[in-house]
Amino acid sequence: MATDLRLPTDRIVRPDKDRFLNEVNPFEAMMSRFDRAAELLDLEPGLYRILRHAEKQIIVSVPVAMDNGEIEVYTGYRVLHNTSRGPGKGGIRFDLQVTLDEVKALAAWMTWKCAVVNIPFGGAKGGVVCDPLRLSVGELERLTRRYTAGIISTLGPDSDVPAPDVNTNERVMAWVMDTYSMHKGHTVTAVVTGKPVEMGGSLGRREATGRGCMIVMRQALKHLGMPMRGATVAVQGFGNVGSVAAQLLYREGCKITAIGDRSGAIHNEAGIDVDAAIEHAQKHRSLDGFNTGERISNEELLTADVDVLLPAALENVITTKNAGQIRARIICEGANGPTTAAADAILDEKGIFVIPDILANAGGVTVSYFEWVQDRGGYFWTEDSVNDRLLQIMERSFIDVLELSKRHKVNMRTATYMLAISRVATVHRLRGIYA
Ligand code: NAD
Repeated sequence: MATDLRLPTDRIVRPDKDRFLNEVNPFEAMMSRFDRAAELLDLEPGLYRILRHAEKQIIVSVPVAMDNGEIEVYTGYRVLHNTSRGPGKGGIRFDLQVTLDEVKALAAWMTWKCAVVNIPFGGAKGGVVCDPLRLSVGELERLTRRYTAGIISTLGPDSDVPAPDVNTNERVMAWVMDTYSMHKGHTVTAVVTGKPVEMGGSLGRREATGRGCMIVMRQALKHLGMPMRGATVAVQGFGNVGSVAAQLLYREGCKITAIGDRSGAIHNEAGIDVDAAIEHAQKHRSLDGFNTGERISNEELLTADVDVLLPAALENVITTKNAGQIRARIICEGANGPTTAAADAILDEKGIFVIPDILANAGGVTVSYFEWVQDRGGYFWTEDSVNDRLLQIMERSFIDVLELSKRHKVNMRTATYMLAISRVATVHRLRGIYA
């Protein structure tokens, strides 16, 4: 099937930044978890200081000739948080709410995510402050190419490898790859991942994040002695991550009793026909009008009486305001940052088993790594081979984190950060400080 190069129209609507300013600040959310894990690891003060700082922060002005003849100047960022374990890896987002603080937090998040699944990448992130839905395809292409040229000194298969993120897609990655290749004078496919399959992308990449969620959720149910068959699941977000995870869980015998997207949510105690929901969502680009159950709000979905809650849409949806009402036994964080740091303690008190984002949704970056390996080797794997290797990495990572959490008597989130930080710290100790 040909690659769909359209830009997303059902883009992620991000919550108003002022809503719970301190509770949702992404940098604070990341740092408070980092601090707790660093303290438990008794991290040396010097290493602590190194890991709190981003290695490199680039800010570029991005002038774009608009279709109406005017020149607009956008601001773009690229941050490399830590590259001790390998090239920086992390997406590029186009969004009006992009800030340097946010990009820094997301870059650090990527350092930990890559370390948790033990792939040889560091953490990076980029963004351009813009509203891509107000740009024509030509304007978007010129913006992407000029931004790429602005940050080209950091990019490269051995130094910094971007991927799609909020409001960017395969087509944007194709432009980044082409711009970089034009500067180099030859085609360099491995400079980005999440490319169209026709030009060096990997089979299985589109489904990888949802598949990874299914794998770790299966492990969690097994650990808690709960059968997969018949386990009830509520899924918030029915895009790439949510719909694929829901479909795979459905195939594994789970009962998906609630699903939702930006149009609202549906609840059906008898179980929702996920294949029919996906068909509807593909046809209408939304779940609106898919009425095979009772309509509920997204807030009600989060507190539904289910075995597993899978937030797969937005950040900061589980906060101190609703954490006390959550009834799920397991939360599998498909989205990045769906739980605020302040809400962690409430979930802990309730005994909810949380599979944190940097573990639960790491299937995507894992298959991005496979894409990079395939591009560099010039040899492409079958989808079964991609899925088998993903299964091994996700299962191994879950077990590594679980063992650490038992050994240190900490929750899964803290154990995940401890595992990630200790892996990065070990490499720093081995490499020493270049002077
Ligand atoms: P997507 O754009 O494909 O889907 C997003 C879904 O969220 C859509 O169904 C949309 O309707 C829904 N949504 C938007 N606003 C909403 C709201 N206010 N309430 C409820 N639902 C809402 O995005 P995606 O790729 O599935 O990503 C979802 C989350 O997973 C994001 O946090 C993303 O950062 C994270 N993530 C994605 C990947 C990946 O490979 N796609 C990897 C790691 C993490």
